[in-house]
Amino acid sequence: MSDKPEKLITDDGLRLDGRRADEIRPMKIEIGVLSRADGSCYLEWGRNKILVGVFGPREAHPRRSQRADTAVIRYKYNMASFSVEDRARPGPSRRSIEISKVSREAFEPVIMAELFPKTAIDIFVEVLQADAGTRTAAINASSVALADAGIPMKGLITSCAFGKIDGKIVLDLNKDEDNYGDADFPVAMTQDGEITLVQMDGHLTPEEIREGLELVKKGCKEILEIQQAVLRKKFETPMGELAEEA
Ligand code: UDP
Repeated sequence: MSDKPEKLITDDGLRLDGRRADEIRPMKIEIGVLSRADGSCYLEWGRNKILVGVFGPREAHPRRSQRADTAVIRYKYNMASFSVEDRARPGPSRRSIEISKVSREAFEPVIMAELFPKTAIDIFVEVLQADAGTRTAAINASSVALADAGIPMKGLITSCAFGKIDGKIVLDLNKDEDNYGDADFPVAMTQDGEITLVQMDGHLTPEEIREGLELVKKGCKEILEIQQAVLRKKFETPMGELAEEA
């Protein structure tokens, strides 16, 4: 871990990675990267690297996990042991179980699961490299992978955190800001701005939360545009051109 910097915001108002308070880290998305998955996505966001595979709707096993009226949605967040500075212990942890649960719940309002009774929709998240904000990065990647799999959804889910560093509200904390900052507040929302995930680590006043949510709305709008652009490219490309690219 790097040593605690004296300041996280320099005198010219920029953060240590050069961003302004309201800027997200650069994001890059690739779609359809896993040939055995029904839908997949590789996403880089700053130094985060995330791979998502979506499988289904397929018959749910074990059969006792099936529901007669709807598909069950399963979300598994996993950190590769080499993804963090101190090796992450393989297997589920309290943290990964919690992230999986809240992330699944973030998608439940938009996935039209009732169309596929007795099936399962599996979302597998592998964090290959972590630099804070992996749960939000994974949700953004999962949203694209679900669309890639053709899962009917009322819209995309988009996710971004705000936080507080040196007493100032900023968008999308990186690892140093997360380590040495005062608060982190991940959010996920629908395209219409309906919030489907909120978590908070640290202390914030109601006014700071209001200010942060405005930043998050701006960040999510930018991310939604990136998600839509990659999906449009895939689904609007005439079949002939796709064959040529392959
Ligand atoms: N982290 C780590 N080891 C762990 C868990 C997390 O080094 O076992 C790091 C990793 O960079 C992660 C960051 O701490 O992205 C922040 O973790 P947090 O639990 O806040 O979740 P995230 O911000 O990634 O959603």
